[in-house]
Amino acid sequence: MAWDFETDADFQRDLDWMDTFVRDELEPLDFVVRNPYDLKDPIRRELIPPLQKKVQQRGLWACHLGPDLGGPGYGQVKLGLMNEDPRPARSAPMTFGCQAPDSGNSEILAHYGNAAQKKRFLEPLLRNEIVSCFSMTEPQGGADPKVFTCRAELDGDEWVINGEKWFSSNARWASFLIVMVVTDPQAPPYRRMSMILVPADTPGIHIVRNVGLGYEETDRGAHAYIRYENVRVPKENLLGERGAAFVVAQTRLGGGRIHHAMRTIGHVQKALDLMCERALSRTTQGEVLASKQMVQEKIADTWMDLQQFKLFVLQTAWKIDKYHDYKLVRKDISAIKALMPRVFHDAAARALQIHGSLGVSNEMPFSEMVIESFHMGLADGPTEVHKVAVARGVLEQYKATDGLFPTGHIPSLRERALARYADVIERLVGNL
Ligand SMILES: Cc1cc2nc3c(=O)[nH]c(=O)nc-3n(C[C@H](O)[C@H](O)[C@H](O)COP(=O)(O)OP(=O)(O)OC[C@H]3O[C@@H](n4cnc5c(N)ncnc54)[C@H](O)[C@@H]3O)c2cc1C
Repeated sequence: MAWDFETDADFQRDLDWMDTFVRDELEPLDFVVRNPYDLKDPIRRELIPPLQKKVQQRGLWACHLGPDLGGPGYGQVKLGLMNEDPRPARSAPMTFGCQAPDSGNSEILAHYGNAAQKKRFLEPLLRNEIVSCFSMTEPQGGADPKVFTCRAELDGDEWVINGEKWFSSNARWASFLIVMVVTDPQAPPYRRMSMILVPADTPGIHIVRNVGLGYEETDRGAHAYIRYENVRVPKENLLGERGAAFVVAQTRLGGGRIHHAMRTIGHVQKALDLMCERALSRTTQGEVLASKQMVQEKIADTWMDLQQFKLFVLQTAWKIDKYHDYKLVRKDISAIKALMPRVFHDAAARALQIHGSLGVSNEMPFSEMVIESFHMGLADGPTEVHKVAVARGVLEQYKATDGLFPTGHIPSLRERALARYADVIERLVGNL
């Protein structure tokens, strides 16, 4: 019988080290490094690489990758525990070598890149000497890739790309982009598109503007609206088979989704910590907020949501480690993906409310958290789409009833029970 909720003592020591490291070394960086993806920022260049070295020396660098790619090959349960830290500093993923979308893009390059592409792009990406972009969503639609029109046509030995992409995160700092393009418009919808590797210095890539999130200053936008105009790349920059973009995309999405969920645990824990501290510190009508029952309800609901969510995420991580097949855990991954924006949003909103005017101000992190909760409900597929996947997965385990009435129909059940025990009833009670 194996059913264990304990962390190994050795690994717990690593987690404790991470906790102190993130608090002492990484949290302050949020106030001095404008964006950890901006590799040219002199402050970032000065401060982040020495911290990355410390992480490497501790053996905690790029833990999602196997030894062939320079990581220790931790399973998802260990990654889940590492990401639970209630100190979600902005530069933490970068300092630990697991930032999106580079983590997913490195998996794509490792699977589908040729030797030259790996040397030029994968190796420096894994060392965080460069960053990358995943360019899929288009201005006219993201949730339904069947409406994508950004086109790549073969001209001799080159692909020529024309079209627009929207919300291509970090394109402004990226050394290469992985672009999802229509190569076969006449093919069935899920065989129309391919993935192409595009070096960022290729002529014809125009960033129309960099879009920011709700709380960000306008010059800080990291999500590019891009126009590709006659962008020419060699034929061999096709990643995976022609028409197999959806297969290639899945290489990164399965892992990426659970990693978002793991990071959400840390954010929710932080909201709970701040909420409890404030409830115990602030008084109104002669008593602390913590003694008001409606405040207690917010704290209890947040803690209960967090416990349920955390266990669900860790159980899903455990299933991924056990089966080594994302398809077998698709329903669970979609379920935690659909749950995380709600759990995150509700925790952030309750913490905001308990802090009153200070809570809505730009002096506390709650408005950023609320927007981030919506980010979790959009990136890598909107909540609604994941709920449909969950419902499909659940329904697969059922079949329709043959009879006129449902199997839970009480008169039918009663009739069957009476027929089965008719002898006993007649013997002991007589006819009913
Ligand atoms: C912070 C952030 C970073 C991102 N980074 C990247 C990136 O690096 N690269 C990239 O390519 N994209 C990126 N995206 C885009 C993301 O993938 C899209 O936002 C997502 O796919 C939804 O597409 P959309 O925004 O066009 O919304 P739409 O497709 O217009 O959908 C809008 C809404 O319609 C509803 N909806 C959609 N489909 C259904 C359905 N089947 N049933 C019911 N309701 C539905 C949902 O409420 C959905 O939110 C990022 C998004 C965010 C927020």
